[in-house]
Amino acid sequence: MRALAFASELLGSRPPPRMKRADYPTALRTVIGELKRLPGIGPRSAERIALWLVQSRDARADAVARAISEVTTQVHPCERCGFFSTEPLCDICADPSRDPSVLCVVEQPTDVLPLERTGGFRGRYHTLGGRISPLDHVGPDDLRIGSLIERTREEKFSEVILALGADVEGEATANYLAEILNAMHVTVTRLAQGLPAGAGLDHADELTIQRALSGRTRIAPHSL
Ligand code: ZN
Repeated sequence: MRALAFASELLGSRPPPRMKRADYPTALRTVIGELKRLPGIGPRSAERIALWLVQSRDARADAVARAISEVTTQVHPCERCGFFSTEPLCDICADPSRDPSVLCVVEQPTDVLPLERTGGFRGRYHTLGGRISPLDHVGPDDLRIGSLIERTREEKFSEVILALGADVEGEATANYLAEILNAMHVTVTRLAQGLPAGAGLDHADELTIQRALSGRTRIAPHSL
């Protein structure tokens, strides 16, 4: 015991020299830091991807960097519907074979492809960029509602389908739009209920969306 006490006294009186903790070089830490900021990538994944980029022979880091840089400069919202595009008009708006008489209004551009994948809709789209949400300070003027009204006036749709969320905010937005569109003498419909509340269309499976689309119901002016 005495020997142990002596040893600890000796150690305590002589603090170990401070060693600089080793870390990755700055360039590698920068990549890890940037990757970590991406949605769905945690610190471990960020580190794994960064290490793969510097170690793997077929990592093609240049191609990855170029693709990321190009996507941010080339892809922008379609000036008519708001879907992703590299041209002024997206592929859907520019496609002459689409039915110009039916418009489907969705909250986000990411809602378009789930509807497209069902193959059950051949009309055109309009993305709002969100929904009316007073709690988040999102009012009608913050959404692409002005251009929707303009399109409805100019393109003379026979039907406008409101494919919005089934929760309170989605409903409120749908009612707000239905009132305006009904006053413009357009037939307004909404997807049949059955979509998961609060979840965007990108979370619903194809069959659910297809059923919701084919079972859509009219929002008549007097139903508001
Ligand atoms: Zn478009």
